[in-house]
Amino acid sequence: MKFGGTSVADGPSLTRVVDIVKSAYQSGNEVAVVVSAQRGVTDQLITMATELAGSPDATGIEPFINSLRIRHGKVLLESAEEYADEVGLLLEDQLCNLESILKAVHNLRELTPRSRDYIITFGERLNSLVVSAVFRQQGLPSTTLDGCEAGIITTQNHGEAMALPESEAKIRNRIIPLLADTVPVIMGFMGCTTTGVVTTLGRSGSDYSAAIIGAAIEADEILIWTDVDGIMTSDPRLIHDARVISTISYLEVMELSYFGAKVMHPRSIEPAMKKDIVVRVKNTFNPSHPGTAIVKSEQRDSRVVKALTYIEKVAMVNICGAQMIGRPGVAKAIFGLLADRDVNVMMISQGSSEANITLVIEESQEHTAREALSVLVNQGMVRQVTTNRDVCAVAVVGSGMAGAKGTGGRIFSALGQGGINVMMITQGSSEVNISFVVRQEDGPKAMRILHDEFRLSEEDNE
Ligand code: ADP
Ligand code: ASP
Ligand code: MG
Repeated sequence: MKFGGTSVADGPSLTRVVDIVKSAYQSGNEVAVVVSAQRGVTDQLITMATELAGSPDATGIEPFINSLRIRHGKVLLESAEEYADEVGLLLEDQLCNLESILKAVHNLRELTPRSRDYIITFGERLNSLVVSAVFRQQGLPSTTLDGCEAGIITTQNHGEAMALPESEAKIRNRIIPLLADTVPVIMGFMGCTTTGVVTTLGRSGSDYSAAIIGAAIEADEILIWTDVDGIMTSDPRLIHDARVISTISYLEVMELSYFGAKVMHPRSIEPAMKKDIVVRVKNTFNPSHPGTAIVKSEQRDSRVVKALTYIEKVAMVNICGAQMIGRPGVAKAIFGLLADRDVNVMMISQGSSEANITLVIEESQEHTAREALSVLVNQGMVRQVTTNRDVCAVAVVGSGMAGAKGTGGRIFSALGQGGINVMMITQGSSEVNISFVVRQEDGPKAMRILHDEFRLSEEDNE
């Protein structure tokens, strides 16, 4: 069971978490718990560390440490009074550690990927101590483990590390013996390299932690407890009548999360898929709702489209020139240059004339991409590279689209009727996803039009 930031934000939410875990445990299940940082803490850690590396002013450190002390201490005192002294000391150790490293970052005016990773795990470090104490106060035997102690061994790719295969046996050896008589509380979002250097798994990485652990111990189910009833037909903050999807396939969720649906970490499906473990997304604040089951078999619905997602802050890169026509190696050069500068390409399209290749990347990487690709212009391999920042990408996802005729036609004629100009289109060969780019200001309207066109607010009729 993984509990996200809002589920563990304060005393009252933790009471719900305890009820959920207790009821599973007392009905004879073995339960391992993965927790995130309290909502907002990871963002605060990132901001603080970044500011300290670039500013002569270090006066923010003390009030920041104090705010963390108050925030976590309050929950501890309210919900685990018996353990307040014992766990209070452990929190102080962590805070002292954090304070020293923040001071070091400031003194050196340097934040390396390695020290950044170490710093941003403190949200989970502090919170897991509190959650575990609350479990004990409520009669659930519990211990805490950091990601490394739990056996998550990762690549050295700081900020976006991935679990290595050797994690599996390690996790099994560490976690399974604990399950017999405790509920281990594992700090999400982090792991370590083979030499013990702390790494993080990418933003929202606790979902991935839960999936890695659930797959390694061959759990019957991986439960992602969050603050909505399940995976919905669209981000409910954008489409107010978005509906919860009762069953969805691994592949569909992968497409949704790669395309920005913030409900799950993009890599968190793969470990579960390998072991064919059901991942259930449920609401901590409405546990009787069945939630969404993410399963292997594709659930075909009479509706071909299952969900929509929308990514802002992207940029479109156009590479063009007649020189590219029939010339092998242009694509290799483009992707090689971008990969060398760590620019992640989200969408690719090339017309049959070959005189134009269009890519979609994160907006924050636009400058780097332009710089990297200017080499090709200087070499005469392409005529020009232009970028467009004022755009967003929309993905239409559903396994029912594979082989269904006319879905693309429906999407683009609905958009056309709504007066929306489509700037780029891609469809993968799996046909589970059709994505397109529109002007930033047209994004929400495009989502609304397609949500209505495919009747996504209506009940499932599987
Ligand atoms: P947690 O702290 O539990 O990890 P997150 O904030 O990371 O929670 O993810 C849950 C949020 O994801 C929801 O509150 C919702 O606003 C957002 N979200 C975006 N797209 C979707 C979607 N398709 N279905 C459900 N929630 C979504
Ligand atoms: N606390 C981390 C983040 O905010 C990981 C997570 O919440 O899953 O990204
Ligand atoms: Mg999350």
